[in-house]
Amino acid sequence: MLSWSDIYDVEGVGGPAYNVVIHEFAHVLDMRDGEADGVPMLPGLQAQQHWLAILEPEFERFCRLVDKGMETAIDPYGCVGPEEFFAVASEAFFVTPWALKEQQPAMYRLLASYYLQDPGEQVHRA
Ligand SMILES: [Zn+2]
Repeated sequence: MLSWSDIYDVEGVGGPAYNVVIHEFAHVLDMRDGEADGVPMLPGLQAQQHWLAILEPEFERFCRLVDKGMETAIDPYGCVGPEEFFAVASEAFFVTPWALKEQQPAMYRLLASYYLQDPGEQVHRA
């Protein structure tokens, strides 16, 4: 369930991206295969292994940045676990794609291939 005040509280300039609608939809996509684990439904085992080969090191790298107190494109809440990392990284992908692309390019490319779009590129062309 989403509240209107949360839905209108959308940020992204000067801090981590925030958009509760994208966040919750990412969880729905994640849980389509029955588990909230940061791995959405993908076409087959090879695609799942490819996903994990990128997600896991990107998640660990992100948590090290947060531990060092660095400003991150992704909401530090993502350190809770891979399922939250996928949700907050999805927020950053759509809200501040250029920042995500600069800070975690491998995660950006993974999400671009999953969501079949390149919002960072569109922003630079506009
Ligand atoms: Zn969440």
